[in-house]
Amino acid sequence: MLHKADVVKISIIGAGFVGSTTAYALIMSGIASEIVIVDLNKEKAEGEAMDLSHGLAFVKPVQIKAGDYEDIIDSDIVILTAGANQKPGETRIDLINRNVQVFKSIVPEVVRYAPKAILLVVTNPVDILTYVTYKLSGFPKERVIGSGTVLDTARLRYLLSNRCGVDVRNVHTYMIGEHGDTEVPAWSITTIAGANLNQFCLHCCGDGGCKEECQQELHQKTVGAAYEIIEKKGATYYAVALGVKRIVEAIIRNENSILSVSSLLEGQFGVRDVCLSLPTIVNGQGAERILNVPLDDKDIQGFVKSAKTIKKFIDQIQW
Ligand code: NAD
Repeated sequence: MLHKADVVKISIIGAGFVGSTTAYALIMSGIASEIVIVDLNKEKAEGEAMDLSHGLAFVKPVQIKAGDYEDIIDSDIVILTAGANQKPGETRIDLINRNVQVFKSIVPEVVRYAPKAILLVVTNPVDILTYVTYKLSGFPKERVIGSGTVLDTARLRYLLSNRCGVDVRNVHTYMIGEHGDTEVPAWSITTIAGANLNQFCLHCCGDGGCKEECQQELHQKTVGAAYEIIEKKGATYYAVALGVKRIVEAIIRNENSILSVSSLLEGQFGVRDVCLSLPTIVNGQGAERILNVPLDDKDIQGFVKSAKTIKKFIDQIQW
């Protein structure tokens, strides 16, 4: 369990769009005292470390270096962002074979040099790779976390906040299940100012409560967000980096924050032996406890369907 106010060492494997933007977000937050960046492409890692280091005059003290696996020794958290990203038209699931192979080379090295770290998986398909990392590392389940639907939850909150004219920080909801096409908004536990969506809409605009079409539209926009961004600019990285920073903060500060990270399910809603997102307590132990949230039947059905899809792909992995 982490309780270290003095030295916080975070390593990032993968210095691409997501890895380097995550390093930037961490530097801006001041949470880390040491950041190590490892990439197959050493020049890229070195370039990113140099560029980031040249901003050190403007932020809280932090050592940044590009390194090899031996340099990640004593890391508190290792963030895994290495591997292929989606090209326009590709789904996250399309990346499965390539990125499982990448993880088969990375995870043993991480375990060798940082056996006490919490592993935070971001590479897609993130739920499947979180499961792969859990299996390959042999770490306790709490110490293997996927960024899961933390990003998708933020997207849904943003869309709802715009629709309802309410500060995004006052919109409480979760995307659950896969970080991908089968994810579902947990409408039954969505609240604004303590009111469920139907009550809120009745009070706010009065015309019959929250409309089914509106919910479907926001769901589709959330699921389609990454495709749209990748079509327009090639990759997504700012919001995910902020989401990863948020998870890191919850761990380092032992916050007991509720985040929709991905972790091993052990019978929640009848689902086990698969990593997926549900509201989860995140603290110094990692993904400490998945909460038993009061979803309605429709949300449970959506979640279970998502789990079945992911389980099918897990069963086809060539270890
Ligand atoms: P990128 O291509 O910019 O970077 C990937 C990096 O991984 C490259 O620098 C590459 O050299 C490195 N790499 C590849 N194989 C490696 C290995 N064996 N060892 C070490 N480094 C290796 O890609 P990106 O845009 O940064 O995306 C990275 C991953 O993050 C992708 O899988 C992407 O789909 C995923 N992603 C996840 C989320 C999320 O919410 N979970 C959001 C956005 C992107």
